[in-house]
Amino acid sequence: MASDTKIICFRHCSSKSIFCKNVPKICPICQSCILDYDIEPFLVPYPYNNAKYEPNSIVIRPSEGTFLNDYHIANDLHIGITNSEGIVFEYDKQGLILNDCAKWTNCIALNIIPSSWESHWNETLKLILKDTKWKSENYDEMSMNCFNFVIEFINNLHYMNMNFLNKETMCGKLILPKLHDALKYNSLFKKLETTEFFISLYTPNVYLIIVINN
Ligand SMILES: [Zn+2]
Repeated sequence: MASDTKIICFRHCSSKSIFCKNVPKICPICQSCILDYDIEPFLVPYPYNNAKYEPNSIVIRPSEGTFLNDYHIANDLHIGITNSEGIVFEYDKQGLILNDCAKWTNCIALNIIPSSWESHWNETLKLILKDTKWKSENYDEMSMNCFNFVIEFINNLHYMNMNFLNKETMCGKLILPKLHDALKYNSLFKKLETTEFFISLYTPNVYLIIVINN
């Protein structure tokens, strides 16, 4: 994560969170000098990862541009799979593509299996890569695309009761929850481009984790 994409969150005197890039000396809510915090400043978790550091994952990025700068919820997504070495496998109109890693430096990574399933993940991936149907001539924007490739992989994996009929059910169950967090981050990021502080009742999930741990 580049330092200019960081977002800090803290609370001082109210139940509202203050989002900023630099923690101020004066509270923007009560205008008093900050001596202590209701919630200590913490970095809002950056929702995007470099696929090469996300082994055995389902990885998602916008078909065009980047999540942080260009993405809108109506835009097309592209999806791929990483193996245990973080190599990305994807299917599109050019057929199977192996490790086009420069395009996967800011993706959403979904780690859906425990470590005990890693070798089975790799074997399942090897098998689907051998299937000759994933060639460019068979590509179809609606019925034979990157999502079909990943859905077939997940269904072949037989992990728990995870299987998906189509792109819509997969998006709803697997992708949208993560995507919502990411879009929340994008909107905070955009607000802080034009204002020094953003004050909101929203608190990122990380706070809930801290509370549970305490
Ligand atoms: Zn205050």
